[in-house]
Amino acid sequence: MNTRETLNLTFDDGPDPEWTPRILEQLRHAQVTATFFVVGEQVLKHLGIVRELLEHGHDVQWHCHRHVRHSQLTEAELVADTENGLEALAEAGVRPRLWRPPWGVCTEATTQVAERCGLQLRRWSIDTHDWRGDSAASMLDHARGLVARGGSVLMHDALGPGAARDGCENTAQLIVPLAHEVRRQGLALAPMQADRQKLASG
Ligand SMILES: [Zn+2]
Repeated sequence: MNTRETLNLTFDDGPDPEWTPRILEQLRHAQVTATFFVVGEQVLKHLGIVRELLEHGHDVQWHCHRHVRHSQLTEAELVADTENGLEALAEAGVRPRLWRPPWGVCTEATTQVAERCGLQLRRWSIDTHDWRGDSAASMLDHARGLVARGGSVLMHDALGPGAARDGCENTAQLIVPLAHEVRRQGLALAPMQADRQKLASG
């Protein structure tokens, strides 16, 4: 049995026509398959990029349709956003099992909608704060002491609302050295897994 801890590299807010292919290229160099939490509105504009992610063995899961905090949505608005988002992903042939809501903000309605739709809520264990525009070197320094326990690393392959940078090059440059560091510490790199027991009952 493989008892190695696993770390997931995860990317929110895409697909983006400029940055998702750049991230994909670096994942290929690092020989890592990752999880992408996508935005429905962007999926509809860039279906080809989602297909490319899937063809390269990456996992595509759901972030949101419109990028709004759930605390700012009524339950009806959240239900509508979920229906729109799941429809958008279905266009790309994706039936998501995992849901990471915008900013990780979950309300009571989030939990209820997730349960009804068979979606498992996920956050992250390591935040790179890549949206701030920190350099790859400083993000690597920050992550180095945190990767040993496994979990998931939050990054972004697009400029979401609130991004304080003009591109995602720092994230692209982090991937190869981060993957190297994770493996050096003895962990495996893989996409995020859904909890099978919950899937069976849901
Ligand atoms: Zn986001």
